[in-house]
Amino acid sequence: MAWDFSTEPEFQQQLDWMREFVREEIWPLETIVDDLSQEQLDRLYAPLQEEVKGRGLWAAHLPPELGGQGFGQVKLGLIHEILGSSALAPNAFGNAAPDSGNSEILAMAGTPEQKERWLHPLLAGDLKSAFSMTEPEVAGSDPTTLRTRAVRDGDEWVITGHKWFSTNGSIADFLIVMVVTDPDARPHQRASMIIVPADTPGVRIVRDIGTMEHPAQGSFGKLGNHAEIYYEDVRVPTANVLGEEGAGFLIAQQRLGPGRIHHCMRWLGVSRRAFDMLCERSLYREARGGPLADKQTVQNWIADSAAEMQAARLMTLHAAWVMDTQGASAARQEISLIKFFGAKVMHDAVDRALQAHGALGYSTDLPLEAMYRYARAARFYDGPDEVHRESVARQILRGRQAPPDGVPTEHIPTRREDARRRFADILEAVTAND
Ligand SMILES: Cc1cc2nc3c(=O)[nH]c(=O)nc-3n(C[C@H](O)[C@H](O)[C@H](O)COP(=O)(O)OP(=O)(O)OC[C@H]3O[C@@H](n4cnc5c(N)ncnc54)[C@H](O)[C@@H]3O)c2cc1C
Repeated sequence: MAWDFSTEPEFQQQLDWMREFVREEIWPLETIVDDLSQEQLDRLYAPLQEEVKGRGLWAAHLPPELGGQGFGQVKLGLIHEILGSSALAPNAFGNAAPDSGNSEILAMAGTPEQKERWLHPLLAGDLKSAFSMTEPEVAGSDPTTLRTRAVRDGDEWVITGHKWFSTNGSIADFLIVMVVTDPDARPHQRASMIIVPADTPGVRIVRDIGTMEHPAQGSFGKLGNHAEIYYEDVRVPTANVLGEEGAGFLIAQQRLGPGRIHHCMRWLGVSRRAFDMLCERSLYREARGGPLADKQTVQNWIADSAAEMQAARLMTLHAAWVMDTQGASAARQEISLIKFFGAKVMHDAVDRALQAHGALGYSTDLPLEAMYRYARAARFYDGPDEVHRESVARQILRGRQAPPDGVPTEHIPTRREDARRRFADILEAVTAND
């Protein structure tokens, strides 16, 4: 029976190198990133990206023929756990969202010409991209309600609509835009993904939105910002459709599965960093005659976080393993489970660490307050908790039936009657012997 939790020694060496590299080379950038322009940031990243390429760890999410490593989801999960410790790390490894997901879409659904023009430069780090789906007017959690329209005019699509939260939209060279191409088709066949170069006339980026993660959104056009965009009669060639016309949801689904596993593993990286701070704090902070480590509540936080992180890690790796061995659709339930469970585990791990640090945790002198703001969004992007719970419950209930007579299967009086009938001989013999 194959049941193995070990990591191959060569791969473990790569993971060890990554852990050290992220801690020594990336964590220091966090303290100055807000003072840097995008150009300065690009300059700082360039040598780090070269080093990662030299180690053979660049764009590890892609198959070898596209310059990736073909690692599969379990190994990728372990990589993302390390990268998750810093929001700045994925960009040094060529797998920052949304470029990583977009490169997967292009690899999966792109024509040879689309790959040549968009995918290869994206992978080389020469282009940046955005994924433009969510609209302020309709529920992002139900994308069948999308309104942005693309109408065919000869050999062009004409796109009109309003999007927001397109991450990296203001620095992107091209956007993958989810648009309705056939409003009369069945709900999940109405939309298509279309590549829109950012400099196409009619692409109007109105702002980068201030968020809980970046409340003081002073700097337009910076990595990690979320753009609000109007598409006003934007004309692109019909050849810019990705995959089949009407396949937008199908492609989105294939992109989101692995993406959610990577998110969950990155969240464990955040949780671990917060957890380490919680443990450190408990050892040096004295209150009421002893260190916090001696207080039962703090001990409970440490034990609960350790247990929950372990559970989330195993669930995430299991989902990755199902995906590697049986494919994305077989892993649907596992992915939904870890999406809402992992988001809560991260939230609670950060919250406890912040609480244990008191005013210091709340201050910007520690990264905990930023982690807390980051953690909050995880409960609704890529599918709100409620939708994933609903989906899990539906899948679980699909294989079950109500009892035909309305009596619960476990109803003890009914079962007792059945048991009495079944064992009547013995019961009668016992009674006769009495
Ligand atoms: C940091 C960040 C980055 C993002 N990046 C991108 C990006 O690059 N590209 C992009 O297109 N979008 C992006 N988004 C947007 C994100 O995908 C949406 O916020 C998400 O899909 C939810 O859509 P919504 O905001 O319209 O919320 P809504 O769909 O309006 O949902 C609001 C709330 O309604 C409730 N709800 C919804 N459905 C149900 C249900 N079935 N049962 C019970 N309650 C329900 C939930 O509480 C949910 O949180 C990003 C968002 C964030 C925060």
